Amino acid sequence: MSMQVQSWREDAACKGVRPGLFYPDNELEERKAKAVCGLCKVKECCLEFALNSGEPEGIWGGLNSRQRRRLMRSRRGVQAYASL
Ligand code: SF4
Repeated sequence: MSMQVQSWREDAACKGVRPGLFYPDNELEERKAKAVCGLCKVKECCLEFALNSGEPEGIWGGLNSRQRRRLMRSRRGVQAYASL
């Protein structure tokens, strides 16, 4: 883990929150986790970390795995368009 990764984790709003909340098994828990992310000042770093490392599960940067996959597809589409 790089120093950069460690530094954003220090400012995470979820620091000290039960980690299991970010691996929800129902919609209410997912909403609670996303509410914490909504207050997080390192949300973008967290999301980029999850996207770059291909995190397959959990809530990262306020997005669930399905939403992250959709974002990645969207980014790939933009890159493909930009290269035309
Ligand atoms: S965005 Fe959410 S999961 Fe990521 S560090 Fe912040 S609170 Fe934690």
